[in-house]
Amino acid sequence: MKKNKVLYVVIPCYNEEEVLLETTKRLKKKINDLIERKIIDKQSKIMFVNDGSKDNTWNLIEQLHKEDGLITGICLSSNRGHQNALLAGLMTAKEKADIVISMDADLQDDINAIDEMIDKYNQGNEIVYGVRSSRKKDSYFKKITAEGFYKFMKFMGVDLVFNHADYRLTSKKVLDELEKYQETNLFLRGIFPLIGFQNDIVYYKREERFAGKSKYSFRKMMNFAWDGITSFSIQPIRLVLNIGVFMLLISILILIYCIIVKIKGQAVAGWTFIVCSIWIVAAIQMLAIGIIGEYVAKIYNETKSRPRYIISKNLENK
Ligand code: UDP
Ligand code: MG
Repeated sequence: MKKNKVLYVVIPCYNEEEVLLETTKRLKKKINDLIERKIIDKQSKIMFVNDGSKDNTWNLIEQLHKEDGLITGICLSSNRGHQNALLAGLMTAKEKADIVISMDADLQDDINAIDEMIDKYNQGNEIVYGVRSSRKKDSYFKKITAEGFYKFMKFMGVDLVFNHADYRLTSKKVLDELEKYQETNLFLRGIFPLIGFQNDIVYYKREERFAGKSKYSFRKMMNFAWDGITSFSIQPIRLVLNIGVFMLLISILILIYCIIVKIKGQAVAGWTFIVCSIWIVAAIQMLAIGIIGEYVAKIYNETKSRPRYIISKNLENK
């Protein structure tokens, strides 16, 4: 007899006490229904990852685990950010699960897409990306910045699934591969397309956060976008090279201009011109050093190979 697959739903949580109970209620219903319909194994679980929350989040997770074995959780020793928390969850879940679905704690991503994701997995896909078909419920600012970001990344030559965030199904096989990516500056949605394997897309409508505030401050969003670009693209450094080539062409034109002026005997070449040139060159050099420095900083971080997360507790092996 074919054994049903064990599914783990991994949910990073940072100060999510306001949404946790409702999220658990809705997800429990969904997972129990899938178990009853024999679509997934009864060993399946909902795994919360507490990302160093300062509120009651971890106490709630512990309590939920006591009440119902379907709920489990791990606790990070401090706030390491969404991507690292997610990685911690995925790596822990893959030890027990055949398939893992990651999603946010606020259920902005429609949980009814889970059925279709599992269907696509059963059809042979190793990764199923959840893609937002509409962002009507997002604020105008969020929509513009988020969609602009995907387009800009594409322009920078980074392979991303448009409007896909971190709502996705992955098989254990894919997660075993993910483990080999040892980068510190983590941008998961850029890594999965690199891993490859057969994959598909499931569309869903993105809802409003039903309680609490977004945990992505403007600063976190900018850092995330910058990480995405500098971890995957060499275009910024190539831009410096292009500027250099362009400047060389301009210099040749200027040289020709100077020779003509000289031949005509109208010399006393412009002092203004020299001063301007010095300033422009200095500015561009500064820019170039800045960008190169950014990459050097990345190399520096990578070579240190610091652990990206430290799990202080795991409710499944006390
Ligand atoms: N999150 C996290 N660590 C952080 C910031 C966010 O684990 O430092 C989690 C958060 O609890 C949520 C998910 O990442 O489950 C996405 O955050 P949020 O919903 O606030 O982002 P938005 O939907 O506004 O982009
Ligand atoms: Mg959200």
